[in-house]
Amino acid sequence: MLASLSEWVVPYGLRLGNPGFSGWVTTAPTVVPAVAQLAAAISSPQKWWLTPGNLLEEVALRWLRSLLGLGDAAGALVSGGMMANFLGLAAARQHAGERHGIDPSADGVAAMNEPRLYAGEHVHHVMLRSLGLLGLGRKALVRIPVDRRRGLDTDALAATLDADLAAGRTPIAVVASAGDVNTGRIDPIDTVRAIAHARGVWLHVDGAYGGFGVLDPRVRDQYGDLTQVDSLAVDPHKWLAVPVGCGAGFVRDGDLLERAMALEPAAYVEGGAEREPRSTFDHFGVSHHDHTLEHSSPSRGVAVWAALAEIGADGMRARVARHLDCARRVAERVRAHPDLELLAEPVLSICCFRYHPPALRDQGTIERLNQAIVADIRARGLAVPSTTRVRNIFAIRPCFIGPRADLEQADLLVDEVLRSGVRHDSPARQKSARS
Ligand SMILES: *Cc1c(COP(=O)(O)O)cnc(C)c1O
Repeated sequence: MLASLSEWVVPYGLRLGNPGFSGWVTTAPTVVPAVAQLAAAISSPQKWWLTPGNLLEEVALRWLRSLLGLGDAAGALVSGGMMANFLGLAAARQHAGERHGIDPSADGVAAMNEPRLYAGEHVHHVMLRSLGLLGLGRKALVRIPVDRRRGLDTDALAATLDADLAAGRTPIAVVASAGDVNTGRIDPIDTVRAIAHARGVWLHVDGAYGGFGVLDPRVRDQYGDLTQVDSLAVDPHKWLAVPVGCGAGFVRDGDLLERAMALEPAAYVEGGAEREPRSTFDHFGVSHHDHTLEHSSPSRGVAVWAALAEIGADGMRARVARHLDCARRVAERVRAHPDLELLAEPVLSICCFRYHPPALRDQGTIERLNQAIVADIRARGLAVPSTTRVRNIFAIRPCFIGPRADLEQADLLVDEVLRSGVRHDSPARQKSARS
């Protein structure tokens, strides 16, 4: 079986870690965190109890907190951004309930009058799933308009919150995005927080993709003071390149998070009800299980610790800076070329643009041309971006996040688009002239 794994499983995998792959906000793990995860599987079959993984989970959380400037927020490593965001919203739900004398974790949400969650148009769709699962309902999402440059429209947010509070509705949280997956834009987090907190409303920050962007001085100020946000999600399985299945959820009020995650005692868990262990078998080590919705779970902290220990804080800063440079390089080359059009100024490591020779006017033709270009360069496999829509315009969207991606890949991508564009352009132009 070991030979089969080498022969059949490893070589035929998805090559997200290839330097030219810029299609997703996730990447493949580098060697050290991948091996660390294997080591964790062997040494720490649960993150409960006294295992190396139990300790390293704690070290990993502390390092993430200090690296990202999160103060002493409580945290948990979960399976990814979906669950890290869910954790934050579950804590927010608990907070909103307790303000009205309800314990949602015990009593449910029936007594909550018209719960509402506020987020920009660009909110990640996992937030809607969380609303569904938390019993609040996907229709509880109120989409706040987004200013193209500044992100979430804070005047609209304040007005909507005031109107809803006056109508007796129950705001659960405001969600600010620290790097939306379409363009990488960051909402004005400090202003959003001031608006939410002035009304006693929870602020959750979705930094699943962009959380580590705070390490770059060029954008650092846009994150504001992260010690003051109520909850935050960040994915080590994105920019930190640990094996997929690792998101981090942080909640400023650890006691509140414990109440949201309350687990009733059970007879089969020796020492589960008491905090004092009776034997080493009962000894739960650091009680990570109080801060998460998972029960049995691996220690993801081993891979996070290993990744950070390998490259260090400076190495991580350099990686983030390099990827921001990549997006800026693409933008620079797009601006300099008459046949390319920049669709969104890069903020983090994403750059949205399209191939658009000035002679082409018909939007449908331009879109089909860009679809053909993307299909073509993906088939060649040297530079593999994804696509999105910006103001409803079809965009080529590289996201530089792979540890092996550098400026060479940024240039390669632009070269590939130009090369393919020239090839596809003339038939498109003829068709456009005919129609
Ligand atoms: C990736 C991402 C998610 C979802 O996270 P998973 O790790 O895929 O579960 C949510 N929000 C943002 C902004 C993301 O980038």
